[in-house]
Amino acid sequence: MKNRTKAIHLDYQRQDPYGALNMPVYNTAAYEFENTDVMADSFCGRNDLPDYSRVTNPTVTYYERKVKSITGAENVFAFSSGMAAISGVLLSLASAGKNIVTSNHLFGNTWLLITKSLGRFGVESRLCDLTDSAETASWIDASTCCVYVEIISNPLMEVADLKALADVAHKAGIPLVADTTMIPFTEFSARELGVDIEIVSSTKYISGGGTSIGGLVIDYGVEGFAGTMKEVLLNFGAYMTPQVAYMQTLGLENLDVRYKAQCATAQEIAERLRTLPQVVSVNYLGLEDNPYHDLSVSQFGHTFGAMLTFDLESEQACYDFLNRLRLVFRATNLFDNRTLAIHPYSTIFGTLTKEERARLDINPASIRLSIGLEDADDIFDDLKQAIQG
Ligand SMILES: *Cc1c(COP(=O)(O)O)cnc(C)c1O
Repeated sequence: MKNRTKAIHLDYQRQDPYGALNMPVYNTAAYEFENTDVMADSFCGRNDLPDYSRVTNPTVTYYERKVKSITGAENVFAFSSGMAAISGVLLSLASAGKNIVTSNHLFGNTWLLITKSLGRFGVESRLCDLTDSAETASWIDASTCCVYVEIISNPLMEVADLKALADVAHKAGIPLVADTTMIPFTEFSARELGVDIEIVSSTKYISGGGTSIGGLVIDYGVEGFAGTMKEVLLNFGAYMTPQVAYMQTLGLENLDVRYKAQCATAQEIAERLRTLPQVVSVNYLGLEDNPYHDLSVSQFGHTFGAMLTFDLESEQACYDFLNRLRLVFRATNLFDNRTLAIHPYSTIFGTLTKEERARLDINPASIRLSIGLEDADDIFDDLKQAIQG
């Protein structure tokens, strides 16, 4: 079966008594057992019956199994947010005295998690240029617990060579962890590129329509990882809720069609924005002269996602543009059905110091767009009137 079919067809763990076509939402905290033997087996992991919904819930399990069926992973863990999934992975791999080799070009909260929150627990962050695998290798030592990369960094859209990074990590006997939020796992195989642990903010493409917050950890079989991950999931208590799993299962079913439509519109908008004299530059991987275009094609295929950024002449021009929008929403989030625009410098990265923002290469004159499912002409007309004032 192709991914588009797998996203829809998967048997439930148990036949629904009414033959319901959609997985029921099990809104329950706990479960009753036939007798004490079955109960003890459940609590000690000797059968797969749920005991408590912080640990397992049939609706969430169904969602995890669908992701597993598409990715071919050994294990999939669903979390209450993308950040919970990232924290879960790093809390499983790292400990005091260990270090994480990564980059300054990271999603804002991930950068803060690694450099600040985990730093308080004695985990060191080593920030290097992940597009240079030799430099990356030079930062790894016996205390490095993983190499952490975003497949397309947000918002700079930098792309690292994943096979080269995987070689560097594997030579050192450590996993390559990749945040793949920017290109859905229905489009490319992270495992084939050497990724050992894939993390997705399912809030984005999968939820569709921005209905809910969620995160996924997709484990391709790192030794000892699943046991520690399960422990962290239970003890930190950030498991996904059944309502979210239900909404995101529906999102997963139509992800592929939405994604392809959004990518086609993003390509068109990127090309048309370039024709406006007020636009200083447009950053989109689908533009052939983008420095990461060819690497992106070789790793992810011929779709480039629905996020793009463009630069205007000044920070003030960005505020004027945003305040003039009529159709496009001034909002964060990515890959909603609606087109969204944001000024990352004053919002997502707004609490960082000027120096920190400079270190992260966050440009004060840059706008981030997430292209939705509206008609391309309507989106462009609104952007154009807001840019031209
Ligand atoms: C949104 C996002 C996250 C965080 O996910 P949440 O679901 O908001 O917690 C992590 N990484 C990337 C690349 C993101 O875009």
